Amino acid sequence: MTVTHIPGGDTGRNDLYRRLGVGDAVLAFGDGVLAALAEPFARVDAVAEYNQARVIAALQKNNVNVTHFNPSTGYGNDDGGRETLERVYADCFGAESALVRPQITCGTHALYLALSANLLPGDELLSPVGAPYDTLEEVIGIRPSAGSLAEYGVTYRQVDLLPDGSFDYDGIRAAIHERTRLITIQRSKGYALRPSFSVAEIGELISFCKSCKPDVICLVDNCYGEFTETVDPTDAGADLMAGSLIKNPGGGLAPTGGYVCGRADLVDRCACRLNAPGLGREVGANLGLLPLLFQGLFLAPTVVQSAVKGAIFTAACYEKLGFRVVPGSAEPRRDIIQAVELGSREAMIAFCKGIQSAAPVDSYVTPVPSPMAGYDSEIIMASGAFNQGSSIELSADGPIRPPYAVYFQGGLTWYHAKLGVLMSLQKLLEAGLIEL
Ligand SMILES: *Cc1c(COP(=O)(O)O)cnc(C)c1O
Repeated sequence: MTVTHIPGGDTGRNDLYRRLGVGDAVLAFGDGVLAALAEPFARVDAVAEYNQARVIAALQKNNVNVTHFNPSTGYGNDDGGRETLERVYADCFGAESALVRPQITCGTHALYLALSANLLPGDELLSPVGAPYDTLEEVIGIRPSAGSLAEYGVTYRQVDLLPDGSFDYDGIRAAIHERTRLITIQRSKGYALRPSFSVAEIGELISFCKSCKPDVICLVDNCYGEFTETVDPTDAGADLMAGSLIKNPGGGLAPTGGYVCGRADLVDRCACRLNAPGLGREVGANLGLLPLLFQGLFLAPTVVQSAVKGAIFTAACYEKLGFRVVPGSAEPRRDIIQAVELGSREAMIAFCKGIQSAAPVDSYVTPVPSPMAGYDSEIIMASGAFNQGSSIELSADGPIRPPYAVYFQGGLTWYHAKLGVLMSLQKLLEAGLIEL
């Protein structure tokens, strides 16, 4: 007997979806939207294929073998596996050097290291792309905080984007002066409704900044950007970039960690800041996490592919219902984030309930808005993740403030992302907030 169809065919699939809570109207709506997405999905597939080869080439170049998965404890001296992982990251991202550590607790920490290690009292930090990500406000001292860069005598200046979302080159030229030591560029929109930047756009901005001041250090906040294009900012002239391992490059397997990569002298300073001057990169136990960090990087290109498909599907569904989405379903992808302007607190809550109810973990939990460290408005978060707070896993969140935009991201598999989007539609439908 040959089995050529799944049990029950489409009927069987729909029965299962119904059991998960997706009604027929939502299923039909989703199928209709999906039918028009072959072209953008094919573009995502091509990027993933390229990036898979990019990662494999970096693993092979460094002769990765099973001894590199050995655990280390205590000081972690002579940890060949850790050193090899860092060489693999550097090669994969076209950088001289990388620091990839479970002791870097999150993306904010990685960025804080890159900033605090390379800015000294009297130096100025410039953001030429408008306000930085919420948690960096306290790092920089825009909002006063113990240990901020401002407390250490580092000043900050910001040049906003022009109304059309492009760089204000005249403003940037005027803002760069002899004390401007470091320029920080955020690739992803974060909790803003501006576009995310392509690596090519970031490369142009960096060239411009260097033409104004050749020795200025250019740092890119690469959170959510890794593997969404075939190049990353260090391939395009960034001196440093930083990100989180519970986002794209951890591939969903890394249980914690962050990375900084770029110019060797600047990365070495980050290691001194993370550990202690003199100790630098020589210490740092891997705690047995290396298999997950290596394998997570190996899986990252296809995990990002799934997440990006989920983002495009979200955009296409909500666009069709008349909501403003950033980016639009046909626009190129520069990160895994999909913003949907839902227009009300109730709709944000319903959307997040849908994502939560599709989760493999904690699906029975109801997300509610609440305050969160590092953010100045209430945040709602849906996340039923294997790794707490992991946003390469299917998640949605946003600050409860106008225009009530929810930020959707992640999905270790495309089918899970799809279920999440369908459930979000179902919850909005049940709350009477949309009509299909
Ligand atoms: C997530 C994020 C950060 C901070 O990362 P955490 O891991 O949450 O600390 C910084 N910048 C951007 C653009 C981000 O998306």
